[in-house]
Amino acid sequence: MPSPAFSTDCSSSSTARFLPFTRSSVNRSATAVFLRSPIHHVAAPPPAVSTSLKIRTFVVRSSATSSSHAASVAANDTSSSAKVIDGKLVAKQIREEIAVEVAKMKEATGVVPGLAVILVGDRKDSATYVRNKKKACDSVGIKSFEAKLPEDSTEEEVLKFISEFNNDSSVHGILVQLPLPPHMDEQKILNAVTIEKDVDGFHPLNIGRLAMRGREPLFVPCTPKGCIELLHRYGVQIKGKRAVVIGRSNIVGMPAALLLQREDATVSIVHSRTKNPEEITKQADIIISAVGQPNMVRGSWIKPGAVVIDVGINPVEDASSPRGYKLVGDVCYEEACKVASAVTPVPGGVGPMTIAMLLSNTLSSAKRVEIEWLGK
Ligand code: NDP
Repeated sequence: MPSPAFSTDCSSSSTARFLPFTRSSVNRSATAVFLRSPIHHVAAPPPAVSTSLKIRTFVVRSSATSSSHAASVAANDTSSSAKVIDGKLVAKQIREEIAVEVAKMKEATGVVPGLAVILVGDRKDSATYVRNKKKACDSVGIKSFEAKLPEDSTEEEVLKFISEFNNDSSVHGILVQLPLPPHMDEQKILNAVTIEKDVDGFHPLNIGRLAMRGREPLFVPCTPKGCIELLHRYGVQIKGKRAVVIGRSNIVGMPAALLLQREDATVSIVHSRTKNPEEITKQADIIISAVGQPNMVRGSWIKPGAVVIDVGINPVEDASSPRGYKLVGDVCYEEACKVASAVTPVPGGVGPMTIAMLLSNTLSSAKRVEIEWLGK
């Protein structure tokens, strides 16, 4: 329950009406993000923080790309005001790095990475997401392909496009924009995407490999990958830390927990049936919240100095906004800022990272094909 100890925007917003996106308008494809939303903080990557606990800070080289962030944050830093983990800034940096790599690849091999998106129906939100993905591809030199089908298309028609993209060597990643119209079998359609081009990372084989020691998935789902990348780039030590993931969905919570475990964190998962979520969450050095409940995680849930990654994107009524609503995370940001050592804002935190990771997955896919081709 929300702590009465804090009197902030969050307590007032708990009375504001939560405007749940329809199941469909929330990005069931992990790549639907709110790139168009303004961000609250445009902070330079934070300098190494001084910590009363004298915990070492780290600058970790990114696993996905070649450069590192000149910034670090220590889980357990107990400075009074949290650093803002600026996903928008980091995502921009990653896109720039990808653009350089794409250009190098083109020059060396003539190959340009390609991403195909399949959109079925006329949903405005889906069309916006697809447009954003296309723009992001263009900005880094990745070629984008699009198949737009009417709402009343048959499954066979969608499968035909998937099959064509599967067999097209200029396409290195395929993404089916969700939701599909209700008459379609989502699982059947997603399963038709070949695992080598499953840049969303949802294929059961990819998830299975993620869960197994000594196995490497071809792709890691974009949103959880973006969360871990933020931790890396801000120099947050994961190994040996206690992490709590709130939410266990296939696209965010579950793979996020697997990724943290792969990095040697001790991981607990909190879900809707967990009896004492606050007590468990409070033990965490690192919290990743992917619930879809506005401001659920209050300051009292957070251990002083913890690092908080807020994946939630929740629209709540806001009469002062021309749109009539604003977006908030799962975490009460104002309270978290007073307790945590670092926290992601919403918007401008995890959201922009998701598309950056999609581009990163597409580039890796193209590189893998090239390496295999050279090996033949
Ligand atoms: P799902 O609805 O698929 O999963 C929500 C999870 O939260 C479930 O595991 C559910 O538990 C758990 N949960 C729900 N209520 C509670 C509660 N009161 N206490 C504890 N756990 C609870 O959502 P997604 O994972 O798809 O998305 C989560 C949030 O992340 C949404 O706000 C979504 O918009 C956002 N999102 C943001 C992305 C980005 O790019 N930034 C990308 C993807 C999602 P149970 O399993 O028991 O039902």
